[in-house]
Amino acid sequence: MPRRLQLTRRSVLASCAAFAAANLAPARAVLATAKLDPDWTTSLPPFRIAGDLFYVGSRDLASYLVATREGHILVNGNLATSPPQIRASVEKLGFHWSDLRILLISHAHYDHCAGSAQILKETGAKYMVMDADAASIQSGGKTDFHFGNHPEMLFPPAKVDRILGDGEQVQLGATTLTAHKTAGHTPGCTTWTLNTAVIPGHSEPSYKAIIVGSPNVLSSYNLVDDPKYPQMADDFRRQFATLKSLPCDLFLGAHGGYFNLLEKHTRLKANAANNPFLDPQGYHAYVAEREEAFEAELARQRKARAKG
Ligand SMILES: [Zn+2]
Repeated sequence: MPRRLQLTRRSVLASCAAFAAANLAPARAVLATAKLDPDWTTSLPPFRIAGDLFYVGSRDLASYLVATREGHILVNGNLATSPPQIRASVEKLGFHWSDLRILLISHAHYDHCAGSAQILKETGAKYMVMDADAASIQSGGKTDFHFGNHPEMLFPPAKVDRILGDGEQVQLGATTLTAHKTAGHTPGCTTWTLNTAVIPGHSEPSYKAIIVGSPNVLSSYNLVDDPKYPQMADDFRRQFATLKSLPCDLFLGAHGGYFNLLEKHTRLKANAANNPFLDPQGYHAYVAEREEAFEAELARQRKARAKG
């Protein structure tokens, strides 16, 4: 049976988060070992990362609030069951859910976007999505090159109000986010960057924050000759060039696992004066390790093809 037909929602959930190229178990093994990570649905107390940037996601599914005077931006709606958790986190920080103006995502996989339709309905926020992921978002995942025929991977469709191109900016109040197309994991996978706001009366400077979209090759991806995404390997290479070029103070990503969220959160609580999310070294090491894993997997797949 072809690998991709063996996929279940559960195996892909695991793949999105942790089963990156360095851990490319065959799908059968993934099925046998993977279980839904409770960290995906267990809330983490919301907290300020720096300036106007707050963490409002779960223990692993990251969601970020950028709070401006003109309203708020949310990055990632997460699972279909996540909106109440995200809303509770936003309100616990003292903000109003109804002040949400803009919703963004890391990429069009349902662990980052299935909650979007509900959030848009509740808040009236505008949904802004990278061009190559927009069709998937609007079709509820049906046009996804890899998962479109897997009903268990679909999510509630949502109307995209603004389609973004690589390098386009999203502005609200005094804050600007830049959308970097870092494709491969999905064709419109997006890494967001922003300069955090300086809060009056605080000595903290503005920091350059990076929210990594996903540099991970899923275990069932065909990097060599996928007829529906033939340029996947080229896109991954371009993604790594982009990620390496971005200046980083604050290292963040679509999953807490990318940047050791739980461990850093514990350290932040112990000593707020020494912000552990300021981690450019960790960022560059992560990107280098992911690139190496991608190249190794590409070489493995090419060799397997050559053997026939
Ligand atoms: Zn994903």
